Amino acid sequence: MEKIVSLCKRRGFIYPNSEIYGGLQGFYDYGPLGVEMKNNLKRLWWKWFTMEHENIVGIDGTIIDHPRVWEASGHTQSFVDPLSECKKCHHRFKSDDLQSNLCPDCGGELTEPKNFNILMGTELGVIEGEKTKAYLRGEACQTIYLNYKNVLDSTRIKVPFGIVQIGKAFRNEVTPGNFIFRQREFEQWDLQWFTHPSEMDKWFEFWKEERMKWYHSLFNDHSRLTFYKHEKLVHYAKKAFDIQFDGKEMEGIHWRQDWDLGRHSQYSGQQLDYTDPETNEKYIPWIVETSGGVDRTFLFLLMDAYIEEGDLRLNPKIAPYKVAVFPLVKNKPELVAKAQGIYKHLKLDLSIPSVWDDRGNIGKRYYAQDEVGTPWCVTVDYQTLEDNTVTVRDRDTAKQERMAVSTLDSYFTDKLK
Ligand code: ATP
Repeated sequence: MEKIVSLCKRRGFIYPNSEIYGGLQGFYDYGPLGVEMKNNLKRLWWKWFTMEHENIVGIDGTIIDHPRVWEASGHTQSFVDPLSECKKCHHRFKSDDLQSNLCPDCGGELTEPKNFNILMGTELGVIEGEKTKAYLRGEACQTIYLNYKNVLDSTRIKVPFGIVQIGKAFRNEVTPGNFIFRQREFEQWDLQWFTHPSEMDKWFEFWKEERMKWYHSLFNDHSRLTFYKHEKLVHYAKKAFDIQFDGKEMEGIHWRQDWDLGRHSQYSGQQLDYTDPETNEKYIPWIVETSGGVDRTFLFLLMDAYIEEGDLRLNPKIAPYKVAVFPLVKNKPELVAKAQGIYKHLKLDLSIPSVWDDRGNIGKRYYAQDEVGTPWCVTVDYQTLEDNTVTVRDRDTAKQERMAVSTLDSYFTDKLK
């Protein structure tokens, strides 16, 4: 983990937030390479749901909702983490994570678990004394429930259908840490799948398997991805699974039944049921939720791709840059002009994220690109000026292949399919 944290800072993936003021615990910023990789990841997720599946639409909701939302969801009362404090070193631990009643750090005795509300508050309004208490959303999914009726009324979608959203969530985590694994501001990606109660089991199993398949398409080492079956269940859930990486939660597959829509219907006084257009049956749809963390997936992908010698074997689809273009030397204008032409063509005509490097020697440039996971490096050398060929070097095999400049388009577009 230390090596990944250091790589992230050094090469512009992730920086600690407000670092010049000593940082702010649980907050991180994405740098130039990090934002590219995170956007690639989010685009793939979005496309997979909305284009590669039927009957799924997206929304983009706000971070602050009506305060009653968090009463209906139960968060103002129960969004709490039972914590135990060590009587000796005063470190606090989530009770769920503890194996015994002794402090994992110093062996001291722990207090009885106490509850802490982790919903992050704010205020709306400008007049002191008349401000309204509001909350930054503790989970992104609530905005989907709030817009379920709007989506039904404004589109031609019918049950079973899904609404997806990628958005920020905020939690006053008492023990933020492990880099971006547990933050106070983070991003979630959720599917809420609305189904007839009689089909709940089928769809739960479908989405559970489907989500694992998606993660398999991105990760190299599938043996590190496992399902964790929850034994302790909330009262409305028949089953619950986590998709874990190295035994840590990345995404939850939840059986939410009619709990959320039922509660919002009760608290808002609005009918949130659905009438089947064919049978006229009226019911509140049941919900299968898949709720994952964008940042956690990002971190786990780095851990999966990291190879000791400084290689990042990122899936080309999520790598910040796909191609690096080099002139063999930077003081030969013909080489530089030719290489610039290829670089601009890849970037501007083919929209392939590419990067230019003319510093140091070729070996150092390869090393620098391997470290950030760039899958291919194109070098323009003296032979290029004679026969219009270049070398393409593959990150994973370190093999160089000589090919005609005219074949580069199809070579890269095929690889990135
Ligand atoms: P945990 O048990 O680790 O606190 P959770 O079960 O409370 O997680 P959910 O409420 O199910 O998490 O949220 C769905 C996903 O959001 C999680 O699987 C995780 O990937 C992500 N997530 C939750 N809390 C955080 C956090 N503090 N920082 C980063 N990602 C988070």
